Amino acid sequence: MDYVKLINCMRCGMCLPSCPTYKETFLETASPRGRVALVRKIQEGELDPSERLLEYLSLCIDCQACASACPCGVNAGELVAEFTCERKAGSRLGFMEELVLRKLLPHPDRLEASMAPMRLYQRMGLQKLVRTLGILKMFPKPLARMEGLLPDLPERPLRRVIKEDMPARGEARGTIGFFLGCVMSLIFSDASRATIKLLTLLGYRVITPKNQVCCGAPNMLAGDLEGLKTAARKNVELFGGVDLDFIVTDCGGCGAELKKYGHHLNDSSSASFSGKVRDISQVLAMHADALKLLLRPLPLKVTYHDPCHIAHCQGIRREPRELLKLVPGLEYRELENADACCGSGGTYNIEKPEMADLILRRKLDTIRATGADVVVTGNPGCLLQLKKGLIDHLPQVKIMHLTELLAQSIEA
Ligand code: SF4
Ligand code: SF4
Repeated sequence: MDYVKLINCMRCGMCLPSCPTYKETFLETASPRGRVALVRKIQEGELDPSERLLEYLSLCIDCQACASACPCGVNAGELVAEFTCERKAGSRLGFMEELVLRKLLPHPDRLEASMAPMRLYQRMGLQKLVRTLGILKMFPKPLARMEGLLPDLPERPLRRVIKEDMPARGEARGTIGFFLGCVMSLIFSDASRATIKLLTLLGYRVITPKNQVCCGAPNMLAGDLEGLKTAARKNVELFGGVDLDFIVTDCGGCGAELKKYGHHLNDSSSASFSGKVRDISQVLAMHADALKLLLRPLPLKVTYHDPCHIAHCQGIRREPRELLKLVPGLEYRELENADACCGSGGTYNIEKPEMADLILRRKLDTIRATGADVVVTGNPGCLLQLKKGLIDHLPQVKIMHLTELLAQSIEA
């Protein structure tokens, strides 16, 4: 860990109001400033990494709102993640971590096969039965939580059904490598289908290599830096074999991780890969004039939730809003604290359900205040978390991925 990053904190406290865990606890140890101080004291040998202390650090949801607020460029979320990686380096992964991070995620076929029972569970009507009868209460809590978050799955994962090479329609602009995130392919396939459609309509040939693997973000979350590097090498090699203008993703979490491959692998090919990565909103906004000609009226009141991985990690805030405002008839309503976390945080909402629910409640209050019909966002974790929250508390409000809404406007 770079010690300088730790001592850069001047303890001004400007990050405190933007930290979701501090807002809920008012504990210094659950604030960015406190977390930087704890990691620093451990590094300096003045504190032992006790269970309790590690628990405080693990309460960080890694939203990186603190980085956006800090005048000194300190990123407490990233420092905690790096500290966790260093602490775990060399130690064996637990059984479940080994299974998920090493045996499933790096192998798309196995990952897809592992979802087949869930699809069957939904198709046979068991999910409806389980939910209606309240049987979920008898499940272990994390399992019940995961089941509660699971939306209707598509018939087949998108990776299985899309063409690897989709030609541009109309005047050709260039070639895009599409990074299809695991959750987007397995759960939000309509959104990624819409992404490919928008790109081809705007004149891009879209290549989606079927052998691409998970971006490695779950490895990073679990402190498994080696697993992340293995995934990164595979993806860099795969996409490096094609001449591409951009590497595009419609998953905020994947985009944030792919842009860090250059940092993690520290070589020229990974730096070139990361340099080409764009969130879908960035590429669509580049062609706003052409896109505007395709859009038809959608009389909806729409608000936008900034995913942490898009706003704080990638600094993208303007483009999604500009794109929504292009849709004729759409009334855009700004969300208060739009870039405040929704409580998803990868698997945080399963591991720390109480805190995740408190954070979600704040987000739902601000959505209610907008009076919007639809919340738009750009990250599958936020889609899952908000979908569940809206069904439970604001069932009249729908949630959509940005590309789904734009494709709907084109088809309107
Ligand atoms: S992390 Fe940044 S904003 Fe927070 S106390 Fe330190 S210097 Fe101030
Ligand atoms: S990453 Fe988020 S939760 Fe963690 S310290 Fe920063 S603002 Fe707080």
